[in-house]
Amino acid sequence: MNTQHRTLLLPGSFDPFTKGHADLVERGLQLSDSIVIAIGYNENKEGWIPVEERVRALKALYAHEPRVRVESYTGLTVDFAKQCGAMAILRGVRSVKDYEYEMQLADVNRQLTGIETLLLFANPQYSSVSSSVVRELAHFGKDIQSFLPEGLHYADKK
Ligand code: ADP
Repeated sequence: MNTQHRTLLLPGSFDPFTKGHADLVERGLQLSDSIVIAIGYNENKEGWIPVEERVRALKALYAHEPRVRVESYTGLTVDFAKQCGAMAILRGVRSVKDYEYEMQLADVNRQLTGIETLLLFANPQYSSVSSSVVRELAHFGKDIQSFLPEGLHYADKK
Protein backbone atom coordinates (compact mmCIF):
# COMPACT_ATOMS: atom_id res chain seq x y z
CA MET A 1 0.00 0.00 0.00
CA ASN A 2 1.31 3.41 -0.94
CA THR A 3 0.83 5.62 2.10
CA GLN A 4 2.24 8.69 0.34
CA HIS A 5 -0.45 8.95 -2.28
CA ARG A 6 -3.87 7.51 -1.46
CA THR A 7 -5.85 6.38 -4.46
CA LEU A 8 -9.38 5.01 -4.37
CA LEU A 9 -10.74 2.87 -7.17
CA LEU A 10 -14.40 3.52 -7.96
CA PRO A 11 -15.48 0.56 -10.09
CA GLY A 12 -18.82 0.23 -11.83
CA SER A 13 -20.58 -0.04 -15.15
CA PHE A 14 -21.51 3.64 -15.21
CA ASP A 15 -23.93 2.95 -18.06
CA PRO A 16 -24.72 5.83 -17.77
CA PHE A 17 -22.79 7.76 -15.09
CA THR A 18 -25.34 9.60 -12.92
CA LYS A 19 -25.45 12.43 -10.40
CA GLY A 20 -25.28 9.75 -7.71
CA HIS A 21 -21.96 8.50 -9.09
CA ALA A 22 -20.61 12.06 -9.35
CA ASP A 23 -21.53 12.60 -5.70
CA LEU A 24 -19.45 9.53 -4.76
CA VAL A 25 -16.48 10.96 -6.69
CA GLU A 26 -16.76 14.34 -4.95
CA ARG A 27 -17.03 12.79 -1.51
CA GLY A 28 -14.32 10.24 -2.23
CA LEU A 29 -11.94 13.06 -3.14
CA GLN A 30 -12.37 14.47 0.38
CA LEU A 31 -11.03 11.18 1.73
CA SER A 32 -8.20 10.51 -0.71
CA ASP A 33 -5.61 12.09 -2.98
CA SER A 34 -7.04 10.71 -6.19
CA ILE A 35 -9.79 8.55 -7.63
CA VAL A 36 -9.70 6.18 -10.55
CA ILE A 37 -13.15 5.80 -12.09
CA ALA A 38 -12.90 2.26 -13.42
CA ILE A 39 -15.48 1.35 -16.03
CA GLY A 40 -15.88 -2.41 -15.95
CA TYR A 41 -17.13 -4.02 -19.12
CA ASN A 42 -17.81 -7.42 -20.57
CA GLU A 43 -16.35 -8.08 -24.03
CA ASN A 44 -19.39 -10.15 -24.94
CA LYS A 45 -21.97 -7.57 -23.83
CA GLU A 46 -21.73 -4.12 -25.32
CA GLY A 47 -24.02 -2.44 -22.82
CA TRP A 48 -26.18 0.60 -23.52
CA ILE A 49 -23.49 3.18 -24.17
CA PRO A 50 -20.37 1.77 -25.88
CA VAL A 51 -17.53 1.58 -23.37
CA GLU A 52 -15.27 3.87 -25.45
CA GLU A 53 -17.97 6.54 -25.33
CA ARG A 54 -18.41 6.08 -21.58
CA VAL A 55 -14.66 6.68 -21.18
CA ARG A 56 -14.58 9.65 -23.55
CA ALA A 57 -17.52 11.44 -21.95
CA LEU A 58 -16.18 10.97 -18.38
CA LYS A 59 -12.68 12.09 -19.37
CA ALA A 60 -14.24 15.25 -20.78
CA LEU A 61 -16.35 15.77 -17.64
CA TYR A 62 -13.31 15.51 -15.34
CA ALA A 63 -10.78 17.17 -17.67
CA HIS A 64 -10.46 20.05 -15.16
CA GLU A 65 -9.86 17.71 -12.20
CA PRO A 66 -6.32 16.26 -12.22
CA ARG A 67 -7.14 14.07 -9.22
CA VAL A 68 -9.65 12.02 -11.23
CA ARG A 69 -8.55 9.42 -13.78
CA VAL A 70 -10.89 7.47 -16.00
CA GLU A 71 -10.05 3.93 -17.16
CA SER A 72 -11.87 0.90 -18.51
CA TYR A 73 -11.12 -2.67 -17.55
CA THR A 74 -12.24 -6.25 -17.99
CA GLY A 75 -11.71 -9.04 -15.53
CA LEU A 76 -11.56 -8.92 -11.78
CA THR A 77 -11.90 -5.58 -10.05
CA VAL A 78 -9.32 -6.52 -7.42
CA ASP A 79 -6.71 -7.23 -10.11
CA PHE A 80 -7.34 -3.84 -11.66
CA ALA A 81 -7.27 -2.16 -8.24
CA LYS A 82 -3.83 -3.67 -7.66
CA GLN A 83 -2.66 -2.57 -11.10
CA CYS A 84 -3.73 1.00 -10.30
CA GLY A 85 -2.04 0.97 -6.90
CA ALA A 86 -5.37 1.71 -5.22
CA MET A 87 -5.38 1.53 -1.45
CA ALA A 88 -9.11 0.74 -1.34
CA ILE A 89 -12.22 0.25 -3.43
CA LEU A 90 -14.95 2.87 -3.15
CA ARG A 91 -18.61 1.92 -3.58
CA GLY A 92 -21.99 3.43 -2.76
CA VAL A 93 -24.97 2.12 -0.84
CA ARG A 94 -28.49 3.32 -1.61
CA SER A 95 -30.56 0.67 0.11
CA VAL A 96 -30.56 -2.53 2.12
CA LYS A 97 -30.45 -4.39 -1.19
CA ASP A 98 -27.25 -2.54 -2.17
CA TYR A 99 -25.87 -3.13 1.31
CA GLU A 100 -26.21 -6.91 1.12
CA TYR A 101 -24.67 -7.03 -2.33
CA GLU A 102 -21.81 -4.68 -1.43
CA MET A 103 -21.07 -6.53 1.79
CA GLN A 104 -20.66 -9.80 -0.10
CA LEU A 105 -18.47 -8.18 -2.77
CA ALA A 106 -16.31 -6.43 -0.17
CA ASP A 107 -15.89 -9.63 1.77
CA VAL A 108 -14.80 -11.65 -1.28
CA ASN A 109 -12.47 -8.90 -2.47
CA ARG A 110 -10.81 -8.63 0.93
CA GLN A 111 -10.41 -12.39 1.15
CA LEU A 112 -8.85 -12.50 -2.32
CA THR A 113 -6.30 -9.73 -1.93
CA GLY A 114 -6.69 -8.02 1.41
CA ILE A 115 -8.00 -4.87 -0.27
CA GLU A 116 -10.58 -2.97 1.79
CA THR A 117 -13.80 -1.42 0.48
CA LEU A 118 -15.03 1.98 1.62
CA LEU A 119 -18.81 2.29 1.45
CA LEU A 120 -20.47 5.69 1.34
CA PHE A 121 -24.19 6.00 1.95
CA ALA A 122 -25.97 7.62 -0.97
CA ASN A 123 -26.84 11.26 -0.67
CA PRO A 124 -30.64 11.10 -0.01
CA GLN A 125 -31.07 13.52 -2.88
CA TYR A 126 -29.83 10.82 -5.26
CA SER A 127 -30.73 7.60 -3.51
CA SER A 128 -33.41 6.76 -6.07
CA VAL A 129 -31.17 7.44 -9.04
CA SER A 130 -29.84 4.38 -10.80
CA SER A 131 -28.35 3.75 -14.23
CA SER A 132 -31.05 1.19 -14.95
CA VAL A 133 -33.89 3.64 -14.23
CA VAL A 134 -32.18 6.23 -16.44
CA ARG A 135 -31.87 3.68 -19.27
CA GLU A 136 -35.53 2.75 -18.88
CA LEU A 137 -36.62 6.39 -19.08
CA ALA A 138 -34.47 6.95 -22.17
CA HIS A 139 -35.99 3.85 -23.75
CA PHE A 140 -39.41 5.48 -23.43
CA GLY A 141 -38.16 8.71 -24.97
CA LYS A 142 -37.82 10.78 -21.78
CA ASP A 143 -35.09 13.38 -21.40
CA ILE A 144 -32.49 11.95 -19.03
CA GLN A 145 -30.14 14.92 -18.84
CA SER A 146 -31.42 15.98 -15.39
CA PHE A 147 -30.15 12.66 -13.96
CA LEU A 148 -26.65 13.19 -15.32
CA PRO A 149 -24.05 15.54 -13.82
CA GLU A 150 -23.97 18.95 -15.47
CA GLY A 151 -21.52 18.90 -18.36
CA LEU A 152 -21.81 15.18 -19.08
CA HIS A 153 -22.98 14.46 -22.60
CA TYR A 154 -22.97 11.14 -24.39
CA ALA A 155 -22.70 11.21 -28.16
CA ASP A 156 -23.79 7.71 -28.93
CA LYS A 157 -26.69 5.93 -27.26
CA LYS A 158 -28.30 2.75 -28.51
P1 ADP B 1 -22.36 -1.94 -10.86
O1 ADP B 1 -22.78 -2.32 -12.24
O2 ADP B 1 -21.03 -2.51 -10.45
O3 ADP B 1 -23.39 -2.09 -9.78
P2 ADP B 1 -22.95 0.88 -11.06
O4 ADP B 1 -22.37 1.68 -12.17
O5 ADP B 1 -24.40 0.58 -11.13
O6 ADP B 1 -22.05 -0.42 -10.97
O7 ADP B 1 -22.64 1.57 -9.66
C1 ADP B 1 -21.33 1.76 -9.19
C2 ADP B 1 -21.39 2.04 -7.69
O8 ADP B 1 -22.12 3.24 -7.48
C3 ADP B 1 -22.11 0.96 -6.87
O9 ADP B 1 -21.47 0.81 -5.63
C4 ADP B 1 -23.49 1.53 -6.67
O10 ADP B 1 -24.09 1.05 -5.48
C5 ADP B 1 -23.16 3.01 -6.56
N1 ADP B 1 -24.28 3.89 -6.92
C6 ADP B 1 -25.06 3.80 -8.01
N2 ADP B 1 -25.97 4.79 -8.03
C7 ADP B 1 -25.75 5.51 -6.91
C8 ADP B 1 -26.38 6.65 -6.32
N3 ADP B 1 -27.44 7.24 -6.88
N4 ADP B 1 -25.88 7.13 -5.15
C9 ADP B 1 -24.83 6.53 -4.55
N5 ADP B 1 -24.20 5.44 -5.03
C10 ADP B 1 -24.66 4.93 -6.19
